Amino acid sequence: MSRRAGRARTQIPSALVFVFCLSAFAFPPPEGPRVDSLGPNLYAYISDNDSSANSTFLIGPKSILVVDTSIDHFEAEKLLREIRKISPLPVGYIVNTHYHPDHQGGNGIIGPDAAVISSPFTRERTIAVAEATSKPGAARPAGHEFMFRPATETFTDKLTIYLGDNPVEIIAAWPAHTLGDVYVYFPKQRAVATGDLYLTNSVPAMDQGSAAHWIQDLDQILALPADHFVPGHFEVGTRQTIQRFRDYMNDLNTQVVAFAKTGATEEEIRQKIQLPQYSDFRQYAKYEATFGDNAAAILKQIRSAK
Ligand SMILES: [Zn+2]
Repeated sequence: MSRRAGRARTQIPSALVFVFCLSAFAFPPPEGPRVDSLGPNLYAYISDNDSSANSTFLIGPKSILVVDTSIDHFEAEKLLREIRKISPLPVGYIVNTHYHPDHQGGNGIIGPDAAVISSPFTRERTIAVAEATSKPGAARPAGHEFMFRPATETFTDKLTIYLGDNPVEIIAAWPAHTLGDVYVYFPKQRAVATGDLYLTNSVPAMDQGSAAHWIQDLDQILALPADHFVPGHFEVGTRQTIQRFRDYMNDLNTQVVAFAKTGATEEEIRQKIQLPQYSDFRQYAKYEATFGDNAAAILKQIRSAK
């Protein structure tokens, strides 16, 4: 994927390259994941592996709450090392934003005894994915096993947990990126952990879900008094970057709805959509996360709703 990003990069004047190389020599870029402080006791873990999701963790007086736990044993150990640099307290709560393994394959490492909270759909799908991936032939390399733990608690609208005097609001958002998304709002720290409802400067992957409802979720998230948005992948976003992601979703959805009304085929719609203002967004064909893939996913949602 780094090759892809390299190819997509626009031409950089050689003087700038020189300055960049010089500064890179003086300050070598940090290797590995990054932890950003978002406010009192709240941290974003920004994964250095695009295939493994970010996490958000809140240190309470007696225990820690972690939103999403990375993809597997190996990535979860990396996350746990960063948490342990900040606090020795037990992880009492895990929130899984949705069922995709890159967000919850580390549950068993991060919180073997933690309460695990998700939507009912995420719980069901996790049990199914765990079963499918434990079959002979589906095994992952040693040390990179999925460490699933399905939810011990589910909810259908909103659940508030208090860690000391810190409220944590877990809010239903489905259907959107999947049929079971939730996001997590930390009012005191003015921060939101969005899962894959938001990616910074990137086109999302779309599972079975609803782009139309997803846009409403993004409007609700933007209506919260918040300044920090921890995306499913890539760097922490601002109000401006999440607004732009919302506008991408809305522009794309509007175009696909209009073309669908004319009876256009998927291939025609892939050709016709015009999104030049988002040409700097990352696109990943291997995750079916390109403008065209998103258009095809939305068309499928529209046609299956009829
Ligand atoms: Zn996802």
